[in-house]
Amino acid sequence: MLALIDSHTHFDDISFDADRDEAYQRARAAGVEAQVLAAVSARLWPKLKAVAASYPGLYPSYGLHPVWLAEHCPEHLDRLADWLTQERPVAIGECGLDYYLADLDPDLQTEYFVGQLRLARQHDLPVVIHARHAVDHVVKLVRRFAGVRGMVHSFSGSADQARRLLDLGILPSFGGPLTYPRATRLRGLIRYLPLDGFMLETDSPDQPTSAHPGQRNEPAFLAEVLACVAELRGVDPAEIAVATTDNARRLFDLPDAASPGPH
Ligand SMILES: [Zn+2]
Repeated sequence: MLALIDSHTHFDDISFDADRDEAYQRARAAGVEAQVLAAVSARLWPKLKAVAASYPGLYPSYGLHPVWLAEHCPEHLDRLADWLTQERPVAIGECGLDYYLADLDPDLQTEYFVGQLRLARQHDLPVVIHARHAVDHVVKLVRRFAGVRGMVHSFSGSADQARRLLDLGILPSFGGPLTYPRATRLRGLIRYLPLDGFMLETDSPDQPTSAHPGQRNEPAFLAEVLACVAELRGVDPAEIAVATTDNARRLFDLPDAASPGPH
């Protein structure tokens, strides 16, 4: 049985409220032994905490997502600092920049992102980054915080941008979009990334794979992302599973499945 880590989910999302136990069991049955839960706004941190505490192998991160900009206020950065100290999550996030949605003020997004990069350095935690049409600016800001490690989830940039992120200690992560044949650039990119340079994710309930278009995504479908990556690279899925699980364990400092940690 392959041991997989879904490096980015929103398993606390309301769309799982009716069948979270079953979705969790399906994920375990598909080999997904850990998930890193990404937060969106301070209002929802308590629910994320409760969901993560309810199942083995669910690891929380806390942060202020750029798409939820209207919900944030400067005081939430202070509250985030308290949560990091008290809860000791595995990461800060989801944070970052979204230049695709026109109604999100870029300067305000940058303030919250920089605030979270600063906290990442202070608390020595990795960052979970959302970068939509904004990878260059993300690279520029992360460079100002040398030593801060992390991931860009659902990476959709170029090979050159991926290389620049890897040089900074930021791993790209790939999910459902890769499974669509029209994603030629992404599918070309995944063939050549070093084995220690990427992770797998579902971004559940968003970004379903090509086998489930328009449906709610769930962590169990990570196996389809794995199969796609293995096929594109022409290797055994086990090789990709071992490497990407290792990469996620290292980045988030997760315990081995065989020796459960404090979570
Ligand atoms: Zn997300």
